[in-house]
Amino acid sequence: MSQDNRSTISVESPDIVEPQSGLEDEYIMKHQNNMYYVLDELLYISSIVYCSNDMCEKEIYKSDSVECEFMDQSYYFCMNDNCRSYGMWSIRYDYRKSFRQNRLYREKILENKEKPT
Ligand SMILES: [Zn+2]
Repeated sequence: MSQDNRSTISVESPDIVEPQSGLEDEYIMKHQNNMYYVLDELLYISSIVYCSNDMCEKEIYKSDSVECEFMDQSYYFCMNDNCRSYGMWSIRYDYRKSFRQNRLYREKILENKEKPT
């Protein structure tokens, strides 16, 4: 009986075991505190989007939104037809406008090259 007590005391010596586990606990606590903010931010970034309708731009949950694709890019809209239809029309309009401007710019450059100076 007394031998068992001695062996138990020597194995669980607080001088050797406790400082290591204390450091580990402290590290785990700091890690958990830091990870709380990281995971919270990650959850926010991965689940919240802005409505792609430029007249709305409301913060919405990705799970409560309508996803549309245009030119291999995803756009998210509020769960109503107005935001989705006007938003997609506006995105297409902006694309057509920039395409036209780009074409006019190239034509103007070609005209200038053909003119003798
Ligand atoms: Zn919207």
